Amino acid sequence: MEFIFPPPAPASVAIANRSERFPVRRVFCVGRNYAAHAIEMGGDPNREPPFFFAKPADAVVDSGATIPYPPDTENLHHEAELVVAIGKGGRDISVDDAHEYVWGYAAGNDLTRRDLQQVAKETRRPWAMAKGFDHSAPIGPLHAVADVGHPARGAIKCLVNGEVRQDADLAELIWKVPEVVAFLSKTVTIAPGDLILTGTPAGVGPLKPGDTCVVQIEGLTEVSTSIVPSR
Ligand code: MN
Repeated sequence: MEFIFPPPAPASVAIANRSERFPVRRVFCVGRNYAAHAIEMGGDPNREPPFFFAKPADAVVDSGATIPYPPDTENLHHEAELVVAIGKGGRDISVDDAHEYVWGYAAGNDLTRRDLQQVAKETRRPWAMAKGFDHSAPIGPLHAVADVGHPARGAIKCLVNGEVRQDADLAELIWKVPEVVAFLSKTVTIAPGDLILTGTPAGVGPLKPGDTCVVQIEGLTEVSTSIVPSR
């Protein structure tokens, strides 16, 4: 096949202790999946079915990245999240079978232009530009299920300049990983390379130029992001 210009290199995520990288196909995110965060955002912490939004694959950046403060916002927020990497495609997957489709896990940060998101909510417009901007998905090295299993509990934290801003446990997820995979596969056909950011606990807050934001999840490698002044 010939293209009118060279196609872009695939987006990808590092893999812990390996030189190969994980090619990224799509990035899906779950909204409001910890009760305390749902409440802090003015939502209902009950088990309403999970809802999804997306970021472009090329929003993914590695740990250690330096990110210019994004344009069009005065309220950039961190959101510490467990990232699920899909290794096998399928649709209409049952909760019992869902773990078979997971290749591994990583720590991630669902960076959000909170002011744009608030306007989008008020005007019933899409969240795309609040969530899917350049460099909006820092993701740490993936750990294979063969090495770490399926983490269902363990600390999830976000530190800004060393100060703890988010501090929760994966056990507090409203919808667990197998349920999230099952739900997603009923609305789209999932495919190898898909990533799912599973939602953030309470304590989201602003980042400013000069800040270093670290997301830590017990048993996984952290993801560190430095914010520098806008270009
Ligand atoms: Mn999020």
